[in-house]
Amino acid sequence: MNPHPARQASPVPAAGSPAARTRAWLADNLTDRLRTDRAHDTPATLSELIGFEKALHEAGFAGITWPKAYGGHGLGLREHLEINREIGRAPVPNSVNSIGKELAGPIILAVGNDRQKESFLPAILTMKHIWCQGFSEPGAGSDLAALRTRAQRSQDGWRINGQKIWTSGASKSQRCLLLARTGTADERHKGLVLFAVPMDLPGIDVREITSIDGQRSFCEVFFNDVIVSDADMLGAPDEGWAAATRVLSIERATNRMYRSWRFQSELEHLIAACRTDARARSIMQPYARQLAQVRIEVEILKGLVETLVERLIAGEEIGPNGSFPKLYWSEAHQRFARIGLEIVAQFPPGVDGPLPDLRARMQDIYLSSRAETIYAGTTEIQLDIIAKRILNLKRAA
Ligand SMILES: Cc1cc2nc3c(=O)[nH]c(=O)nc-3n(C[C@H](O)[C@H](O)[C@H](O)COP(=O)(O)OP(=O)(O)OC[C@H]3O[C@@H](n4cnc5c(N)ncnc54)[C@H](O)[C@@H]3O)c2cc1C
Repeated sequence: MNPHPARQASPVPAAGSPAARTRAWLADNLTDRLRTDRAHDTPATLSELIGFEKALHEAGFAGITWPKAYGGHGLGLREHLEINREIGRAPVPNSVNSIGKELAGPIILAVGNDRQKESFLPAILTMKHIWCQGFSEPGAGSDLAALRTRAQRSQDGWRINGQKIWTSGASKSQRCLLLARTGTADERHKGLVLFAVPMDLPGIDVREITSIDGQRSFCEVFFNDVIVSDADMLGAPDEGWAAATRVLSIERATNRMYRSWRFQSELEHLIAACRTDARARSIMQPYARQLAQVRIEVEILKGLVETLVERLIAGEEIGPNGSFPKLYWSEAHQRFARIGLEIVAQFPPGVDGPLPDLRARMQDIYLSSRAETIYAGTTEIQLDIIAKRILNLKRAA
C-alpha cells in the first residue's frame, strides 16, 4: 500500500492578485512531504511529485503564458514572473518536468505545427508526458556542434543512431527533445535536426547513472536504428541549430525564473534557523559580512531576471543576454552553498528544533550547486559568449 496517498488539492482562492492566489494555494497544498525545507526519511515519490505538479497546473500556476487552446492559462510574462516569485519564496520541489515545461514547450510553440502543439503541449501540463533533453554526447558537451548522433532519411521517417549522455530524467520520460545530425560531424552547425522522440520506441536503451547525491536522475541513452516518424520532427531539417540555440538561451534566461527568490528564501531560512539556538547563532556570527554579500547578490539577480522579463515583454530576443543570469546565479549560489555548508557542519551533535532540517537542506543545496556551473552551459562557456557576442572580443590565443 502506498504510505503517502494522493491528497485532494484545495481549490484556488477566486479573488486577489496572481501573487496572493499563489501564496494562498501553496499554503494549503504544499504538504510537509513535499517541502524542501524539511528533512525526509524517504523522499517524495515520483507519483507524489507528479500529483503536485498536476494540481499546480490545474490551479493556474503552470503553463501560465501558454495559449488556452493548448491547455495553458493565456496570461502574460508579468503574471508569470509574479507567480514564479511566490513559487520561489516557498520551499516547492523542483519540477520533474522542467524540460517539458520550460524547454520543449516553448520550442514547440515556436517551431511546432498545429498538430504537434495540440498533441504535445496539453500532455506536458497535465504531466502525462515527462520530457528529457537529448543534446549532450560523450564528445559533445560545451562544443555541442560536434554531436555525432545521426538521423538518416528512411522509408518510414528517420533512422536514428548514436549516444546521448547526462540526459536528466530519461528513465522516467515519455518524450525526448533530441538533437541529431543529417550530414557528417564536420558540417558542425549545418544539417542539425530536432525531434520529439517517444521514449518507448524499439532500439532506445536507457541506462541510469548514480550521481554524487545518490540520485539516479542522469542517464546515458543509446539509439540503435530507432525509427522516428516525420510527424515527430520539430521544425524543418537544417533548422535544428537555430532551434537548439534558442532552447539554450531560454534555458539560461527564463528557465526556473523563480530561482533568485528561492535563493533569497534559502538565505533567510539559514539565518532564521540559526537564530533559534545560541550555539548556531555564534557559529553564524563570523560569516555576517559574507552573508551580507550573498544578500546583495540575490538583489542583483532579481534585478537581472526582472530586466530580462521587461525586455521580453518589449519584444526583444534574449540571445546572449541569457548568459548573465545563468552565470551570476550559478556562481553566487555555489558561494552561498559553501558558506551554508561550513556553518551547518559546525553544529554540535544533538542540535534540535529547526536545525536538523536546515542541515539536511544545506547539504542538499551544496551537492546540487556543484552541477549548477556546468549544466545549461559551463561558466567558461558563458564567459566566452559574453566576451564574443556582447563585447565583440576575439578569443584569447
Ligand atoms: C546536473 C546536470 C544535468 C544535465 N542535464 C542534461 C540534460 O538533461 N541533457 C543534456 O543534453 N545535457 C545535460 N547535461 C550536460 C551538460 O550540458 C554538459 O555537462 C555541459 O554542456 C558541459 O559539457 P561536458 O560535460 O561535455 O564538459 P566539457 O565540454 O568537456 O567541458 C569540460 C571543461 O572544459 C571547459 N571548456 C570546454 N570548452 C571550453 C572552451 N571553449 N573555453 C573554455 N573552457 C572550455 C568547460 O567549461 C569545463 O570546465 C547536464 C549536466 C549536469 C551537470
